[in-house]
Amino acid sequence: MKAAAFAYARATSVVNALELLAAYGDKARVLSGGQSLMPAMNLRLIAPDILIDIGSLAELRGIETKGDVLVIGALTRHVDLQRSPQIASHAPLLREAIAHVAHPAIRNRGTIGGSLAHADPASELPACMVALGATIVVRGPTGDRRIAATEFFTGIYETALLPQELLVAVELPVAAKDSAHFFKEFARRHGDYAIVGLAAQALLKDGMFSDLRLGYFAVGDRPMLATASGTLINVPVTPAALAAASAVLSEELDPPADQQASPAMRRHLACVLLARCVATLLSRPDLQDGASG
Ligand code: FAD
Repeated sequence: MKAAAFAYARATSVVNALELLAAYGDKARVLSGGQSLMPAMNLRLIAPDILIDIGSLAELRGIETKGDVLVIGALTRHVDLQRSPQIASHAPLLREAIAHVAHPAIRNRGTIGGSLAHADPASELPACMVALGATIVVRGPTGDRRIAATEFFTGIYETALLPQELLVAVELPVAAKDSAHFFKEFARRHGDYAIVGLAAQALLKDGMFSDLRLGYFAVGDRPMLATASGTLINVPVTPAALAAASAVLSEELDPPADQQASPAMRRHLACVLLARCVATLLSRPDLQDGASG
């Protein structure tokens, strides 16, 4: 199938892109890497009147460290994240997650801004943003808005972005020295969207968690920051404590059924990931099978 007819405008600057968005509103779609937008148009799931191509705006591409904050431009491609020494040292969770996003050809074109604006609940990067406590920076006719990642994703393929706004950057806190991360997903093949996945960021002190952020994906209509981690903070993590956290997790999840998995299977896999995450981060292999869900 081919896309319905559409007009095309290449933005010459961010200001120009915002002018075009103001003129066309929800009749327009922003084109970044095109790796999600073009398939959706070719399948006629969407048929915008006009594409506003921001792909050549160098001002939106790049990674910069400003004090304790890592600023990533919206047009920074997946491959740039994968190869960046700054990402490797300041946001290693993101580096690990990127390897699971699609395949090299797609990572060469796809962008972080496109992935977050697309907001697929089975996508890796939105869950990383939630786990890392990211701020999403969007620009519109009246200036910038900074939105916590936990507020940005509002439903399946839905975000807090307004039709006249552009996602311009992502801000991440630089990982603390005593932090640790965990990333794992269950997928049928490497590079496929996940059946269930977990991106986690933790602070460790004296063999315990002083902070633990569990960003689950493919368990609902948006990435989910699980509250179950609260039961594991500043306490010795025993098999009983892990089983209790697992019970809380099962209770708070409301996963969908689809051709890949039932809700019960997703709950089970989420609990398996919790056990692996805790066992790995605390270097406690005895906890590996401790959360049956
Ligand atoms: P585009 O396709 O250009 O845009 C996506 C959407 O975001 C559009 O609605 C567009 O209007 C909007 N948009 C883009 N940029 C902005 C902006 N700056 N401001 C406002 N709105 C914007 N992704 C995964 O996470 N995991 C996977 O396993 C995975 N597998 C894939 C497998 C295949 C075969 C394909 C084709 C894609 C896969 N993807 C996967 C998607 C891929 O990561 C996309 O690159 C990404 O989701 C979108 O980035 P993009 O730059 O291509 O955005």
